[in-house]
Amino acid sequence: MNRRKFLVGTGLGLIAASAPISISAKGKATKKVAKTGKLNLSFAPYELQLRHAFNLARYSRTTTPDVQVQLEYDGIIGYGEASMPPYLGESVESVTKFLSSLDLSQFNDPFKVEDILNYVDNVAPNNRAAKASVDIALHDLLGKIMGQPWYKIWGYNPDKTPVTSFTIGIDTEEVVRQKVKEASPYKLLKVKMGLDNDQETVEVIKSMTDVPICVDCNQGWTNKEHALEMCYWLKERGCIFVEQPFDKTMIDETAWLRERSPLPIIADEAFQRLPDIVKFKGVYDGINIKLMKSTGLHEAHKMVTLARALDMKVMIGCMTETSCAVTAAANLSPVVDYADLDGNLLISNDRFEGMTVENGKITLHDIPGIGIKPIKGK
Ligand code: MG
Repeated sequence: MNRRKFLVGTGLGLIAASAPISISAKGKATKKVAKTGKLNLSFAPYELQLRHAFNLARYSRTTTPDVQVQLEYDGIIGYGEASMPPYLGESVESVTKFLSSLDLSQFNDPFKVEDILNYVDNVAPNNRAAKASVDIALHDLLGKIMGQPWYKIWGYNPDKTPVTSFTIGIDTEEVVRQKVKEASPYKLLKVKMGLDNDQETVEVIKSMTDVPICVDCNQGWTNKEHALEMCYWLKERGCIFVEQPFDKTMIDETAWLRERSPLPIIADEAFQRLPDIVKFKGVYDGINIKLMKSTGLHEAHKMVTLARALDMKVMIGCMTETSCAVTAAANLSPVVDYADLDGNLLISNDRFEGMTVENGKITLHDIPGIGIKPIKGK
């Protein structure tokens, strides 16, 4: 049984819930809930503790701010989550302010997804993680009402999920070695780049394992000739793609590199929402979709379709998140080229069980909704 004190957002603003919400493993409220025929949103901050300090080309951190969300309809609870890595500009304060401004009780039919999410999207600009938390909770709720997981509702074959990469951050050789050992169950390693010792880091990893690598520069490279040399060098060392090599504003340099690179170039920080993708034709080979950028599953699903129509590769990624948002994203994984869904593995205080990684491959389970169960006592 999961007893947490949540804040309840009402049309009147934030109030503390009069009693903790009790939720069974199946996501059904154990307390008798009156059938109101209305959507009730509740939420609470939850700080994610990282197993290792997370070092990227531009900053380092040991925690990630997060807000956990519940959406209740006639006694059935959908779970959602907003994860806010600081560089994306959202915070616990901005997310709780946004969520408390919503009045979802005006909707008496949770299946009016377009109406509900258009309303949420138009309350205020930006706030993408906050919007994603509502979208994810709504999908979890609807899947539970229908009694099916979303990958089945979309008609996807769970046998076609890809392997997921496991991230090796920028760190000392000793920590890199430790992380490579921890990553032994994984069949693809993502190496964070952007410092002077990029090649040394790759050499250390390749001295310990034969699994393929991919690299994420997080906008850290600055010189296009150096980047092209690195792409050839990395290809010889089993690299399969390069993510966000340059600053997102360096469009011409990225297109130059893409034309010459032996490795696909994937966009991440360069885009957020669906309309951003059209301008990437000829600049990037593919896109890294994350629910905290796309405002959730509804738009992420449309992004996959659009990218395919543009003959682009698709990757599904995540932030540091609990298994809630990571498993939600995993429902799309049977139709993507690459997956980077290790955000739940990078934290020590997950609240949910969801998708698992077996032999390095994303494994979806037959759990209605987004496919998660709360962990007892969390
Ligand atoms: Mg990235």
